[in-house]
Amino acid sequence: MKAETLFWQQCAQAVTADGSIDAQRLMDLVIATYRSHESDYGEIERSVETLLRETRALKGEVASVTQAFEEQKELFEVILDNLPLGLSVFDADQRLSFSNTRFRQLFGLKREDVDAGATIADLIGRIRGTESAGARPDQRSRKHSTATARNDSLRRREWRMDDGRIIQSMVTILADGSSIAIHADITDDRKAAERITYLAHHDPLTGLPNRIHFREQVDAALAERRPDEQIALVHLNLDRFKSINNTMGASAGDKILQQVADRIRASAGGNILARLGSDEFAILQTGRQQPWNVTALADQIRRELSEPFLRGEKQMELSVSMGIAVAPGDGEETDVLLKHAGVALSHAKADGRKRERFFTDEMEAQMQLRHALEADLRAAMQKEEFELHYQPLYDLSQRRICGFEALIRWNHPIRGRVSPMDFIPLAEELGLIVDIGRWVLRQACSDAAQWPEEIKVAVNVSAIQFSGTDLPQDVSEALAAASLSPSRLELEITESVLMENLSEVLPILHALKERGIRISMDDFGTGYSSLSYLSSFPFDKIKIDKSFVNDIADNKEAHAIMRAIILLGDALGMRVTVEGVETAAQVALLECEECDEIQGYYISQPRPARDIPHLLSLPPKTAA
Ligand code: C2E
Ligand code: MG
Ligand code: MG
Repeated sequence: MKAETLFWQQCAQAVTADGSIDAQRLMDLVIATYRSHESDYGEIERSVETLLRETRALKGEVASVTQAFEEQKELFEVILDNLPLGLSVFDADQRLSFSNTRFRQLFGLKREDVDAGATIADLIGRIRGTESAGARPDQRSRKHSTATARNDSLRRREWRMDDGRIIQSMVTILADGSSIAIHADITDDRKAAERITYLAHHDPLTGLPNRIHFREQVDAALAERRPDEQIALVHLNLDRFKSINNTMGASAGDKILQQVADRIRASAGGNILARLGSDEFAILQTGRQQPWNVTALADQIRRELSEPFLRGEKQMELSVSMGIAVAPGDGEETDVLLKHAGVALSHAKADGRKRERFFTDEMEAQMQLRHALEADLRAAMQKEEFELHYQPLYDLSQRRICGFEALIRWNHPIRGRVSPMDFIPLAEELGLIVDIGRWVLRQACSDAAQWPEEIKVAVNVSAIQFSGTDLPQDVSEALAAASLSPSRLELEITESVLMENLSEVLPILHALKERGIRISMDDFGTGYSSLSYLSSFPFDKIKIDKSFVNDIADNKEAHAIMRAIILLGDALGMRVTVEGVETAAQVALLECEECDEIQGYYISQPRPARDIPHLLSLPPKTAA
């Protein structure tokens, strides 16, 4: 209350009944007021002192808090500036409110570029690079990346810098419109990812797309196929490449495969090419009239690959077999088209290699029959459906049987008797020949042990038995089990055995020969370069194929060839057996030519083991 107002109040209280002021009373009132105020003042003084004390304490606290805050701030700045990640904060007006050193480094910005208040547009204008669409190179991850990028509060942006670096920004947008972004250099990660993707889709040896990639390309081509468009798929396989690999070594094989890939690439032109496996390639031809274009392509590839390959000074030759399937006729799905091209390829191989075959429905039917045969063949061993028959080898000068060739027979409960011509090649392909061959050796040795001492037994051996097993070991075990002398065993091999893998086969043949086992060259004359193989190993015997004997009685040329081969065998010190002798006229002629041995229906058909004593008891058979 104002002093004046208070005084007038006190005056009013001191007024007497007659209207005058009682001075004494006024004095008392004033003095009382003064006294009461005096005690208040002391109170105030004390409060002010307390207040001052507390303020001083508070000031001290504020100072220490401020110092702590400054220290924390410095620490944060050191941490943020040394983060391997860039950091930027934009306010709701999209103006920069904070950024760290790494942010500047990543985007190549100067200190003044990142002054607070700079807008996103300012910064984008200053960086040396452009925003890429965040696109990944492949379709699937692009889908994935856009899904992440569209997340409401989280956005992914990507920048391709002029120096080649890729910067990725993960931007978190807050509710008030401000944003915090973390930026990283993902160049190395991206390169590694691209490399992994590349390796997953390419063959490292030739750089060609691999099977996975090829399938994707076929999928895409079939999906985009116009209704009237034909798409040809060629499945290529090098002929006998395995033997090249075995003979020359894997690294030479690799070099040749690279050269093959280059040549196929040159022929394939703009068509899609891939390496499906070791010596398997595939080509997809789209948008062309078929079958003419793919036939021309196959011709060109065959021509290219028929040129000799050079390895050091050595030249070597290759050939290729091809199976072709054309969509939509041969299938409209990748699996079907690939399968049918594969079926056609098997037929090209079976038809003598070095050629191409177009898929036909009959091939499919044959394939199914083959699968059924395969299943039966796998079970035949356990079911003991195999049997050996024996065909005499007849010594012409001694006019007696000197041995028997063991010929396998497969007695199938439903199929009846299956010819070895029909199942041996399949057994070879499936590798079953290893077990079958082992069984034949044991059975033949055990049967021969029952025969007179001077009678030998001949056993046919396939190429695979030389590479898939320890043949000398199998032979030793069979001989030991039967207590048969090695000198009574002859092994018959065809030229194909030598062709498959000469360097692997020769030491095995020598090892067998050293143990006293005889080695015969079977089906002589049906192979490719008989004479060179003949000189590669000292065979004990040449068996001239039955195709040479057919005409010798009536055809002068056939006779001359037969005479020449017999002389050749003599000159090389090898016994000569002529196979497939059916008539007395043929025998007479062969006797004249001083052929050592004959084998054929004229002497006897192959017979079961139980008939052998009877065959041995027959009188000598002559041309007369
Ligand atoms: P190969 O070793 O050349 O056997 C001779 C084939 O000619 C046999 O056919 C035999 O029955 C047949 N033959 C014999 N004399 C005559 C004749 O006067 N005229 C005619 N037209 N043919 C005659 P087979 O038994 O059908 O055997 C065919 C081939 O199967 C054999 O040819 C041989 O390469 C293979 N083979 C047979 N048994 C085995 C075996 O145990 N292991 C292996 N790896 N292959 C075998
Ligand atoms: Mg034979
Ligand atoms: Mg033969």
